[in-house]
Amino acid sequence: MSTLRFYAIKETLNRKPVVIEEKERRSNLFGKNVFNEHAMRQYLTKEAYNAVMNAHEFGAKIPRELADHISTGMKEWAISKGVTHYTHWFQPLTGATAEKHDAFFETTSNGLAIEKFGGGQLVQQEPDASSFPSGGIRNTFEARGYTAWDPTSPAFIIGTTLCIPTVFVSYTGEALDYKTPLLRALSAVDDAATAVAKYFDKSVTKVQATLGWEQEYFLIDSALATSRPDLMMTGRTLLGHTSAKGQQLEDHYFGSIPSRVLNYMRDMERECMLLGIPVKTRHNEVAPNQFELAPIFEESNLAVDHNSLLMDVMGKVAERHNFVVLFHEKPFKGVNGSGKHNNWSLATNTGVNLLGPGNTPMSNLQFLTFFINTIKAVESYEELIRASIASASNDHRLGANEAPPAIISVFIGEQLTKVLDNLEHVTKGKLSPEEKTDLKLNVVGKIPEILLDNTDRNRTSPFAFTGNKFEFRAVGSKANCANPMTVLNTIVAKQLVEFKTAVDTLIEEKKMKKDDAIFNVLREYIKDSKRILFEGDGYGEAWEKEAKKRKLSNYKTTPEALKAKISKKAITLFEEMRIMNKVESKARYEIEVEDYTKRIQIEGRVLGDIARNHVIPTAIKYQSVLVNNVKGLKEIYGNGFTKMAEQQLEIIEAISEHIEKINEGVTEMTEERKKANNMNDIEKTANAYCENVKPLFDVIRYHCDKLELLVDDELWPLTKYRELLFTK
Ligand code: ADP
Ligand code: MG
Repeated sequence: MSTLRFYAIKETLNRKPVVIEEKERRSNLFGKNVFNEHAMRQYLTKEAYNAVMNAHEFGAKIPRELADHISTGMKEWAISKGVTHYTHWFQPLTGATAEKHDAFFETTSNGLAIEKFGGGQLVQQEPDASSFPSGGIRNTFEARGYTAWDPTSPAFIIGTTLCIPTVFVSYTGEALDYKTPLLRALSAVDDAATAVAKYFDKSVTKVQATLGWEQEYFLIDSALATSRPDLMMTGRTLLGHTSAKGQQLEDHYFGSIPSRVLNYMRDMERECMLLGIPVKTRHNEVAPNQFELAPIFEESNLAVDHNSLLMDVMGKVAERHNFVVLFHEKPFKGVNGSGKHNNWSLATNTGVNLLGPGNTPMSNLQFLTFFINTIKAVESYEELIRASIASASNDHRLGANEAPPAIISVFIGEQLTKVLDNLEHVTKGKLSPEEKTDLKLNVVGKIPEILLDNTDRNRTSPFAFTGNKFEFRAVGSKANCANPMTVLNTIVAKQLVEFKTAVDTLIEEKKMKKDDAIFNVLREYIKDSKRILFEGDGYGEAWEKEAKKRKLSNYKTTPEALKAKISKKAITLFEEMRIMNKVESKARYEIEVEDYTKRIQIEGRVLGDIARNHVIPTAIKYQSVLVNNVKGLKEIYGNGFTKMAEQQLEIIEAISEHIEKINEGVTEMTEERKKANNMNDIEKTANAYCENVKPLFDVIRYHCDKLELLVDDELWPLTKYRELLFTK
């Protein structure tokens, strides 16, 4: 009997839900472990408090002399909650979060000890961080990257550690993390959107990009997960025959949540409350053992931090409940994968959602302005949007007919399509009073009603307007949202700058009225953006053909898709908008290309190992059983055995054939890996992994999965899909 597998199943069957007591209201718990306004008022002097708030609201620099006050206040607050250590918390380009803990504890010359946390330690640190990816920006010789406090995201406590959100940059100022370019992009979109919003309301002084992510994930019992080396090493199953029952009965989606899972969710949500992550919804997703949670949306930088933090917390809480959380985009073949929809909008400091309807024609013209500019931005930079969500794991999902396709398009619904059709025919130049009245009454004026009724949702669209926000659905479940959000906010910023210039030119040079000028510019944008609008079935072959005609990109693999990041267009965009210089753009590209290679390389090694060291030996063991059986039959029945052994002989032969194919496949894959590794050019290596190594996974898997169906269940060492996905 295969010991580990059956031991794991037994463990799982004996599990009881972990008891979770919720004594306090969640609203009371909310933000308790966050150095938020409430805590700051208690622990900071008025000057220090104002300095942090100014930095938070207006990006003002914190005077050095106040940093000491702030750090001392922060330390006192943290110690009052049992904290002993602090860390700069950052998001290097590995995709995970990073922390290096230091104790507050310090000795003094007289042999005594104190707790200390100076302003310098709060503001800037130099972790020995030479092992993070830098894309050649720092060679290890010049390994000095430093972390710097981001006062726009509040410090928080995990366990006994005070975590201070920071950016991570090289000694020469280049970004080495996800947060730095995001902050720059958010500032760019703030400037550009504020300038445009002022056309409609002079009192707008700030625009924030908002983000509400929806996190999908799988929960697998930890004993079962540990019995699968592929899950543990790569986050996905590299082989395994699909279970007879998968998601075809559609009985999991929104079904009643199993008790063990529900208690996990409650425990995790409680942690989220303490950390100020405003989680709100939870439900079963489509695939068995797949779930989703979503928070109330927040300012984007905070929302990105909260998502990174959440993924970390989810993993930690899962341990207490004997679960492993899988964030991989496609952990199991044959059932749905996971995504992370990024709901995005723009909100003014006056409390207006710029992508929401208003009650006056003017506020609806404002809505249309931001709506159409976003569409135009996506149209102009569709390749960059595609590149922003490219990864080895998301390749399994995009275009796999269950998730958005690899072709980027925008869905806006029938009603708004009609509105754009009307606007497209607005007269060139000044509008007659009659035309304006008609537009205001019948087109712009009807928008609130239209949006309320915007219920036709197209799940196959990668970028859909959903009533008061855009929903970027192609983002991977494992991804750091900062990457796609940096791109989206940058391209919208760039687009709004262009829009403002165009409108101002018409006002100044053609002496047009403001609304005439806006209508004129929007009309041209509608014409220009048509190719990106698509309302049909994004999974269909017809769309692939149509998209090709429209000259939309359709990059199915990461190495292809990533190239857009170093196109002249992209580099210029990021330089112009002051998000990243050329060195930074190139470095990021290299890191992502190499990440792709490494992930496929690891998968290849693990698959080779499992195929040769688990599957083949097991198949041989079972084959020997059959061979002995046949021998026995021959011994007893002499020549008459052939009829009786017919089926056994067939299986014996089939096993040999599969073993042969698996062994050949692994040998070939290893050869291809060697070739790829020796190419000395990261792009060529990545392509070789994509085109020559990865396809062999399917061949090897096919034969392993066939053997799974032939070999005695008791001997099979790898926990099966039906056990992984259905044992509660
Ligand atoms: P659904 O679209 O699933 O019916 P909602 O419209 O309530 O549900 O919201 C879905 C997600 O969109 C939630 O995570 C929510 O926080 C987010 N969201 C709603 N409004 C905005 C907004 N203005 N900006 C960013 N995210 C938003
Ligand atoms: Mg969902």
